[in-house]
Amino acid sequence: MRYDLQVHTDASPCSATPPKKVAAAAANTGLDGIVVTDHDTLDNVARVREHAPPELDVVSGVEVTTTQGHLLGIDVEEAPPKTDPLTVIDDIHDQGGIAVLSHPFDTMRQFYDRNFPELAAAVDGIEATNSRCVRPLFNRQARAFAAHHGLAITGGSDAHFPMEVGRAATEFEGSLRDAIRERTTTPRGRGRYLSGHVATKVQQARRALGELR
Ligand SMILES: [Zn+2]
Ligand SMILES: [Zn+2]
Repeated sequence: MRYDLQVHTDASPCSATPPKKVAAAAANTGLDGIVVTDHDTLDNVARVREHAPPELDVVSGVEVTTTQGHLLGIDVEEAPPKTDPLTVIDDIHDQGGIAVLSHPFDTMRQFYDRNFPELAAAVDGIEATNSRCVRPLFNRQARAFAAHHGLAITGGSDAHFPMEVGRAATEFEGSLRDAIRERTTTPRGRGRYLSGHVATKVQQARRALGELR
């Protein structure tokens, strides 16, 4: 199985991709599934599902803004509170979901800088391949952290545009949940994609100018 574990839609402020286009892009890249991970909302999960072909598994997820870095909640039904990461992880687990630190050491975005033993003990996995990390070092540090603490590693495109979907993904056998718990997932794909950030800046500028609805 190959799932992209981090995909945004226009429910995120930094993306203009409607759910229908996200579903089509994922199906076109031949992915078996995606996790919809908008910033602090699950508003578009059902819409992506509506537009997805039956062979594409659409998993309900969210990318939570914590007081440190971003945190992926996978298989959750409600957005956890935007608070410290340990509380967010507890909330995700209370919902029966899986918690993964998202681009944890990317210092050009929100990142993690403390409570490392507690975080490693609480979290289920570490995103070791994120296609929007400008420096390859950020992904290498994530992978090293996961190896040191014996945590599962995942990959996701962090797509904000349709052409980014599937640039990175997570390969596994069986169910995604079991594979992360058993630490048998393998991240694949590109861990670096500069022009995505440039495209996002253009997108934000256009929005500010009112060119886009
Ligand atoms: Zn993020
Ligand atoms: Zn993201």
